[in-house]
Amino acid sequence: MTLLEINNINAYYIHNTQKTRAVENVSLSVEDNEIIGIAGESGCGKSTLVKTIYGAIEPPLYLENGSVIYNFKNLNSNANITTDNIPLFWWKKISYIPQASMNVLNPVRKIKKFFENLWTAHKQDLSFKNYQKLLSTHLEHLGLPLNILEYYPHQLSGGMKQRVIIGAASLFHPDLIIADEPTSALDVGVQLDVLRLLLKIQKESENTIIVVAHDMSVMANFCTKIAIMYAGNIVEIGKTQDIFKHSLHPYTKLLIDSLPKIGDKRGLRGIPGSPPDLTSPPSGCRFHPRCPYSFELCKKVTPKMNEISSGHQISCHLIDRGERNERK
Ligand code: SF4
Ligand code: MG
Repeated sequence: MTLLEINNINAYYIHNTQKTRAVENVSLSVEDNEIIGIAGESGCGKSTLVKTIYGAIEPPLYLENGSVIYNFKNLNSNANITTDNIPLFWWKKISYIPQASMNVLNPVRKIKKFFENLWTAHKQDLSFKNYQKLLSTHLEHLGLPLNILEYYPHQLSGGMKQRVIIGAASLFHPDLIIADEPTSALDVGVQLDVLRLLLKIQKESENTIIVVAHDMSVMANFCTKIAIMYAGNIVEIGKTQDIFKHSLHPYTKLLIDSLPKIGDKRGLRGIPGSPPDLTSPPSGCRFHPRCPYSFELCKKVTPKMNEISSGHQISCHLIDRGERNERK
């Protein structure tokens, strides 16, 4: 079943009269029971896209056009959910683990206060007693010691704080959890624990996770489907193995090639050049100034999305020309 239909979204930041075109012409279907990764370099619009999906749209961010259709389970089919009224469903049907989420915890309040506030704001159809029961069962199930409730945030490690936020995000078993760079501020060993925790939650609830990361190795190990973003656009979408084994987009290939490989003495190779300024993005294909395969048409015409095999879509003029630019 399709959980989200994202249709042609344009999301902009407006400062004074300057418009930063952070997300443009993005369409995406998100299915039930999948882990979809959104990857790309810093500043390519990943966080803006997920904020828009979550409905956290506040100035200077504006949704200029486009829509998101939410098909949550067990809701009246007449429920017309839009990005405007989606806050009514926060935590219960859709949760969001923001970038640097540990900072969400108020430093002068114990963790138990954080969970009490969650109940006050969102789940009063449960008595407080039943809520406390649900909370302790859930935390224990996730392997979190109950005494953390008596701690202040500064008494917990970064990994433990992240687990608290993930515990909160999954407490009411939402259909969709959005995690923006959930491992970026953590040590390598802890990163794996956090990813495993998210996987456990997803497997047991059979819900959907959208995870944002710039680290392609996180994507490879964690996601069932990947969307690659460049300069505000989605340039390729496909199943994880299609992206890693049969990618045909020059940017995706460079992103994957920039990963260090076992035995590779050259170390991490960046992608030559830098992402464009989104207040005046390049004409045509936004990747053309950095693309090794760019040709005249790329400078003038924005490439369309083409489906090259089931669920594998690419926007690149090479595909239109029938050149497959296969990985060597
Ligand atoms: Fe490169 Fe042209 Fe394809 Fe853009 S459309 S990725 S510039 S070949
Ligand atoms: Mg970000």
